[in-house]
Amino acid sequence: MFDKILIANRGEIALRVVRAAREMGISTVAVHSTADADAMHVRMADEAICIGPPPSGQSYLSFPAILSACEISGAQAIHPGYGFLSENAAFVQAVEDHGITFIGPSAEHIRIMGDKITAKETAKRLGIPVVPGSDGGVADVAAAKAIGAEFGYPVIIKATAGGGGRGMKVAKDEAGMERAFQTARSEAKAAFGNDEVYIEKYLEKPRHIEIQVFGDGKGGAVHLGERDCSLQRRHQKVLEEAPGPAITPEERARIGTICANAVAEIGYSGAGTIEFLYEDGEFYFIEMNTRLQVEHPVTEAIFGVDLVREQIRVASGLPLSFSQEDLTIGGHAIEVRINAEKVPEFAPRPGRITQYHQPGGLGVRMDSALYDGYFIPPYYDSLIAKLIVHGRDRPEALARLSRALGELIVDGVDTTVPLFNDLLAEPAIHSGDYNIHWLETWLETRY
Ligand code: ADP
Repeated sequence: MFDKILIANRGEIALRVVRAAREMGISTVAVHSTADADAMHVRMADEAICIGPPPSGQSYLSFPAILSACEISGAQAIHPGYGFLSENAAFVQAVEDHGITFIGPSAEHIRIMGDKITAKETAKRLGIPVVPGSDGGVADVAAAKAIGAEFGYPVIIKATAGGGGRGMKVAKDEAGMERAFQTARSEAKAAFGNDEVYIEKYLEKPRHIEIQVFGDGKGGAVHLGERDCSLQRRHQKVLEEAPGPAITPEERARIGTICANAVAEIGYSGAGTIEFLYEDGEFYFIEMNTRLQVEHPVTEAIFGVDLVREQIRVASGLPLSFSQEDLTIGGHAIEVRINAEKVPEFAPRPGRITQYHQPGGLGVRMDSALYDGYFIPPYYDSLIAKLIVHGRDRPEALARLSRALGELIVDGVDTTVPLFNDLLAEPAIHSGDYNIHWLETWLETRY
């Protein structure tokens, strides 16, 4: 087992990794930009190294800065968290070339899944059901119209290099194709430096269901059921839960087994998430994320496992600490993403926290790097806290969420807490009867 690991991230996820490492007796090295000198992950880690100025490109995304911090501190492994360098195959290669262990899958697996067309082809080959659509990239408007005619409108045009919901455009009919195609391409070019796009049948009322998988890197793998992340705004998740309210134990076992077998077959190592759209009892693969997800705590809550601990163990060469039979679901968990944003515009609101009090009590977990007097810097993601509640069943989890939100105090900045309070008054949230488009429609009529 490692003696010391470096955490190449910031905010709540850096703190999350510090916590797992400390319980394992591993010392931690935090890295930070000058804007994060007072951050909680810096205070909580055993050592901290400043790696550059506020812009991520010069600090949290800088290979030389992070690798030097590793050399200087003597850290044997790097945990990348999510975002930043967590799915950067070139970084993983550089880390390994320096004789350091990357806590995550191989560069090759990250590369395959990072390119969405290759990912889809691989998924298909491994027996995972995919969304019907173009075979690979679509070169021009004429080809796009041919695909539209073949699969029927509406269709969605997506960036091959996409991520974070960017570079996606829907074409409702042939007349709308040219514009949607060109816009998706130019957005893809601007966001990812790659204008290749592909086309899928646009599903009108799916739920977003994702399967948590874990590979031991030696041909063994398990699945940890699903998360339902259907409540989305601009293709970004807002609330996640496990188990999925619309998924039966039989469906879970069926799709979970397909996913576990697929990652076992490629010798995948560590945590991964296979994302699907789910409509009328069918699963359709959209992408695989080769990292820990923001919403991993809901899975941890219902299975009673520590996924970060497991990532570190597997990276050090140890076997998985659980088998598929050991993994049984207990209760229901819900996570809400608390962002420093003003509702309903969702405009970022960085600034100083004048008063902070976090909720507690039975079944409440708060993953956050906030504290009284903390200044939220304007340079990074607006996610400031994740509130996770766990109950014996879904109604209990919802009641607990409402209670916990009532205890939370974050003064000085606007947050998305009012959104969750309003959502909890909606019958659809309690019945669980919604799809990926529900929240956008609700936001339009509600605010
Ligand atoms: P990203 O990597 O940018 O997050 P994804 O492929 O994971 O992109 O898709 C993100 C979201 O976009 C999905 O959760 C869903 O809301 C929507 N989406 C993607 N593909 C389709 C589709 N074929 N039909 C309908 N909605 C889709």
